[in-house]
Amino acid sequence: MTTKPMLFKRLSEYFQQLESTSLRLKITEILAEMFKDAEKEEIGKLCYLLQGRVTPLYDSTEFGVADKMMIRAVAQGLDIETDQVLKEFKKMGDLGSATEKLKIKTPDAGPDLKDPQGLTLNDLKLIDVYEILYQVATSSGEGSQEVKVNLLSNLIKQIDPLSARYIVRLTLDKLRLGFSDMTVLDSLSWMIKGSKELRPEIERAYNLRPDLGYISQRIKDKGIKGIKHVQPVIGTPILMAKADRLKNSKEILEKIGRCAVEFKYDGLRLQVHYKKSNNFVKLFSRNLEDLTPCFPDISESVKKSVAADEAIFEGEIVAYNPQTGVNVAFQQTMQRRRKYDIEKKAAEIPVKLYVFELLYQSGKNLIGLPYRKRKGLLKKMIKEDAVLKYANETIVEKEEEIEQLFDDSVVEGYEGIIAKRLDGVYQAGMRGFSWIKFKRAMSKKLMDTFDVLVMGYTFGEGKRTIFGVGEFLTGVYDESQDKFVSITKIGTGLTDEQFREFKKRIAKLEIKEKPQRYLVDKLLEADVWLRPALVVEISADELTRSQVHTAGRILGLSKSGKAEKVTAPGYSLRFPRLERFRDDKKPEGVTTVLEIMSMFKSQGERE
Ligand code: AMP
Repeated sequence: MTTKPMLFKRLSEYFQQLESTSLRLKITEILAEMFKDAEKEEIGKLCYLLQGRVTPLYDSTEFGVADKMMIRAVAQGLDIETDQVLKEFKKMGDLGSATEKLKIKTPDAGPDLKDPQGLTLNDLKLIDVYEILYQVATSSGEGSQEVKVNLLSNLIKQIDPLSARYIVRLTLDKLRLGFSDMTVLDSLSWMIKGSKELRPEIERAYNLRPDLGYISQRIKDKGIKGIKHVQPVIGTPILMAKADRLKNSKEILEKIGRCAVEFKYDGLRLQVHYKKSNNFVKLFSRNLEDLTPCFPDISESVKKSVAADEAIFEGEIVAYNPQTGVNVAFQQTMQRRRKYDIEKKAAEIPVKLYVFELLYQSGKNLIGLPYRKRKGLLKKMIKEDAVLKYANETIVEKEEEIEQLFDDSVVEGYEGIIAKRLDGVYQAGMRGFSWIKFKRAMSKKLMDTFDVLVMGYTFGEGKRTIFGVGEFLTGVYDESQDKFVSITKIGTGLTDEQFREFKKRIAKLEIKEKPQRYLVDKLLEADVWLRPALVVEISADELTRSQVHTAGRILGLSKSGKAEKVTAPGYSLRFPRLERFRDDKKPEGVTTVLEIMSMFKSQGERE
């Protein structure tokens, strides 16, 4: 049976539908419909395009097209002056919509001959457009700018106006359809089952291989059976496990009994992929960002000191002072996360990698083994050298032992400890009690800091006007809705230095409208919205309930059924203070509403 290939135009119509709603269920249904419409050769590519990419998220391929280049491509494609494009762009504030409008005004820009199957020549197939976009993203080196402009201008010339809108946005990384991979997983379940029932199973496969292209293709091809036996592969990161929290050693022992305690190193989480036969090393951050270029010193050590044909293992990178050998602050380690001057910085700020997990070794998936076994294999596999260090563990069964280790950790300048369940499996992509963090108390009431997303800001008054920012609105992640909800504003406690740093970091994040994924009360509307990208860690005095913040807030209908009223207040933070910028975390990696609720509960117990 020959099936009709999906046209890019059809995809653009789906994009348009997706753009017009912020309801998660509706988005799920639209995506499921679209997936049904696609063939198995198309669905994977379609998933990448939905993410505004041509490869999985962990692949570093980017389009590398800036506004200026795109303006040239549009002008060339429509055979008009760049000034005209610029004028429309300024008027509309979005180059995609501007291109669409200009394209409608210049309808004869592309050929429009009927072909024998009744398609017009500007009905380009999804697969064809994908191939062209792939070429745009992968052309590099000298002359590549011209190549990109030519490819894009030809595409814009041929394609219909609506598709031109989305191609421009997609290539400029401005697609922003307002959902995360989790909603896509729901939709894959919806495609085969008409409900979200299969999401846990699909998510399990995704946690091991977070490549939507691969997962969707397997499901399209073989149904849910297609992902039953997904295994890790070298080169594709496994989603990293996260630690849960408890408030004291008693609770830890009650929860997991006799356990292993390791120091909580304060640095940058790293997952190492190694294949001996071709000297392959790839280093991924917790965000699945490819950090290989930043740490040639770690790659060298891995090649020399790992005794295995293949391995996937994890550790924490910590920088140290080369004169004293003493580990230094997190901010210094973060300075190694850079694209330039790598050799120079590596000498100035050397690092160690404290390894604490082994997930895969020579064809064997180890994540289902108990912690003790994995750690034993890891110890055997690593030969310690100047860079690679084995993260020692102490097996404990008494509260005093945990407390002693906690005190030692503080004295030695670590962040605290992590207690690990001896028979715990590695919970890819999940937060669970296999790992329990116990950090230096930031306040009497709160036992942990919060990672929050900076959503927008209000203009400043008085002294702050020199920075143009009064307060930053921040939020946490509501997993059930796949949305960001507000939790607190920070501003008064910031130093001038911190304001400056903020200003620098938000420069490229400002957007015209509030993203659909932000749920914010009218009373807290920001003057300027920021797209979801900047994550900061904050501490606070306590968690309180709040009528205006949307984190955990439940709205119901008033008696008349017309107005919405608060049936359960939200949560907020008292006296929030900025601890640091968390470039290693992505928006969906911030503290979740569920965590906030559980921290609120245990705060009550601490009083
Ligand atoms: P948090 O970022 O506060 O949720 O704490 C979890 C993080 O602690 C992990 O993602 C690691 O980056 C870090 N970490 C430091 N030392 C260890 C360790 N020994 N075992 C596991 N994670 C560790």
